[in-house]
Formats: sequence, structure tokens, C-alpha cells
Amino acid sequence: MIDFKTLAKSYEKEMIQDLVDLIAFPSLTDEASMSLEAPFGKPLKETLDWFLARCKALGFDVDNVDGYAGVASLGKQSSTLGILGHLDVVPVGEGWSKDPFKAVIEDGVIYGRGTGDDKGPTIAALYAMRMLKDLHIPLKHQLQLIVGVDEETGMRCMDYYTKHRKIPDFGFVPDAYFPLIYGEKGIANIVLTSSKPTIIHSFNAGERPNIVIGKATFIIKAQHDAQGFEWYKKAHRLAMDVKIIDDHHVEYTAYGDYTHASTPHKGINAAYHAFNFVGSVYHDDLALEAATFISDVMGRSLNIAFDGVHMGWLSTNCGIVRVSHDKTELTIDIRYPNDVTFDWIISRLNEKLENTSFKASVMAHKEPHFVDPSSELVQTLHRVYKEYSGDEFTPPLTMGGGTYARTMPNFVAYGMKFITKPQLPHVGDAHQKDEGIEVEDLVLASAIYAKALYDLAYEDA
Ligand SMILES: [Zn+2]
Repeated sequence: MIDFKTLAKSYEKEMIQDLVDLIAFPSLTDEASMSLEAPFGKPLKETLDWFLARCKALGFDVDNVDGYAGVASLGKQSSTLGILGHLDVVPVGEGWSKDPFKAVIEDGVIYGRGTGDDKGPTIAALYAMRMLKDLHIPLKHQLQLIVGVDEETGMRCMDYYTKHRKIPDFGFVPDAYFPLIYGEKGIANIVLTSSKPTIIHSFNAGERPNIVIGKATFIIKAQHDAQGFEWYKKAHRLAMDVKIIDDHHVEYTAYGDYTHASTPHKGINAAYHAFNFVGSVYHDDLALEAATFISDVMGRSLNIAFDGVHMGWLSTNCGIVRVSHDKTELTIDIRYPNDVTFDWIISRLNEKLENTSFKASVMAHKEPHFVDPSSELVQTLHRVYKEYSGDEFTPPLTMGGGTYARTMPNFVAYGMKFITKPQLPHVGDAHQKDEGIEVEDLVLASAIYAKALYDLAYEDA
């Protein structure tokens, strides 16, 4: 029995150094320097070139997929076990107390943009592959570490990859949580449009379908109703502002709570309150209709409520509102479990809209992603996680958000964030300021990945 925890520890120094070197690249899309060899610009080309050169120096076969992605592989077997990570990061943002590209280590925490998402996990995976390579044991599957460079800005890297390379037979993505995520809801963006006259003069709120609208400013063609305004605020315990523009126009702002559309119940949709306020105080039919459709985050008011066995309930969020010249547009983000079909949703929705002023059209749609939880892949990954983390309790999970895993069938998300471990107060999560990971977690994740590869690919395991 190989103790991968001890083995991983012996690689700790080098693992950290590689991560420090990788963090130093500002791996962001750069339009100005895009070219045929650098489809996402020079910084990402340099990051990918460095990474593949490093993999080659460690003894892996490498393949640069035209600047869209890279592969480090071990073995020539016909079946393939893959790990999929990414080298691009999100912009730095504001408020950092550390240099985001210096990778400072303090009290066992390594800080820097990409430490948690996804350079740290990718390095943990690379070292898992290295451990297996250095063991010189016979493998029944080729091992491939695939890295994309456009995960954060549209996943075009994997569109390209899946068209130009063979997809591994199965594998995992170190870009989410342990224990593992075997299912992700389908995601559809639907636009509801109406031309019904309304007293709303203008209303623009929200920029992305996948965020609950936290603030809604709108102008209506009426006088300020002070009594209705006070009543609505009190009745809904809502913060609202008013600005009187002239005798016939008044501007209101309603305040809700931003959150991600995969968990809309955790936020408060300010646009719902805007419509509900106008509908109930000013008796505006269009506003009442709109408020009704977006009132419920479980889709009941759209006739599409459904509770899935594996993935839980279908959720809805109105993320963008545009009203002007009696044209109303509501963009709805729908996340649905794998036991309903998209056709079912559309036909139920159309049935609901039949006698209303609204019509639906589909803007975007991604099918649910689901890997059988009783498969060898899920069972093995879960068993290894339990054994090495000591967390016997947490089952394999599903989620409403989309991870990189959905770009390849038979891939599940596997770490490297430990879901049971509380976030340290001064350490930022993925996409946040002062993003950081504990060195201990990096090494443990690497050990878990190595053990998982071993159990899945070693001939005599
Ligand atoms: Zn990521």
C-alpha cells in the first residue's frame, strides 16, 4: 500500500515553487496581442508555453493545442483517464493587501490570483501525475492533464479542444469542491417580451442573467404616491429611494440583495419589488404580470416547478430587465434538474403564457451534466476522498452552477476546496481579493489526486 500523503509531502517544496512561478504570469485574455498562435493574447500564450515546458522537463509528453489548450500525458495506452484544469484567471479587482502575482506565503497560506482557481489545483494534479510517473508502475489507461486557457471567459478553449482532440474516456476536474460533484443542472436563458402599455417610462436593471438583481432604478410616468411608497416599504421591509423628476415623472430605486442565480433564494430580487410596487401601488397591469412571473424562484409562477431526485428543484432568476417605449424584456435564468427535459419546460412555459401579453424566446441553453453516482469513477473518487480527508459524512454532490466538468462527458468536478473546512477569515476565495490556499490543502489534494489516479489506472490496483 503506497501512502500518497507521505509521498506528496516529499514533493512539497517543488510543488510550491512551481505554483509560485505559475502565479507570476498575469494570465488574462489580452485582445491587443491576439494572433493565430496566441488566440487569447500574449500573456496566456506565455503561461501555456511555460506550463508545457515545465511538464516536458518533468518527463511528460506534451501537446500544444494551437494555443487553446495544452496536454501533458503519460503512457500510450488507447484508453485515457483525464484531468482537466485551467491556467487563465479572473481580473485582479480591488482591495488586495498582497501582490496578486507574487505568491507570498504567510502562516501556511499561499496568496495570489489563481491559487484557488485554478492554478493551485492544476499544480496539485500535475504533481499527482508526477508521483505516478516516478513510481514506474504499469498503467492500464493513458493519463492526461489537459489545461485550458479560456475557462473564465466562455470556455472556447474546450470547444476547440473537443473538435481537434480525442476526449478522454473519463476523468475529473479539480476546479470546485470535495468530495465531488457528479451532476450540474441544465442552464437556459429565456427572454420574455411584452408590448403591453405601461406607466413605466424606463427601467434598466441587471447585466447578466446569472446574477439576482440587487438594485433596480426605474422611472414611471406619474406623480409620487407618498402613502403607497411608505406602505410598500413597510409591508416588504424593503429599502427604497425616491427622486421626483417633474410633475409627471418620478424615479424610484428598490434595493434587494445580489447573489448567484444558482441559489436565487439566497438573494432578494430588486426588479421583482420594482414591478410589484408599480403594479400594486399604481395598478399597472404590465407591472403586475411581470411581477407575478418573476415572483417565485422555484418557477411555480411560470408553470415549470419541478423537484429533481439528484439535483433538487428547478430554479429561476430574472437577471436582466429592460423597459422603454412600452416594450418590456425580462431575461430569465432557468436551472433545471436532469429528470425533466428542456422541451417539457418550454411547452409548460408557453402554455402558461398563452393568455398573457408575454412571449418567450430561447437565448441560450446547456443540457444538464450527469455522471452515474454508482459508476466506478464516482465511487472510487469518493472512497479516496473519505480515506484521505477523514470526512466520512459528506456524500457526492450536485449543483446548480456550471463547472468546467460539463465540457466533457464522464467528467466530474473533484476538489480541491474542502467543503467541510471553514474559509479562513483573511483568505479570499476564488475570484475574490487576497485569493489564497493553505499549503497543507495543496499537498493533501495532490495526494488525493495521486491515490485516485492510482486506484483508477494502476493495472494491479
Ligand atoms: Zn475555475
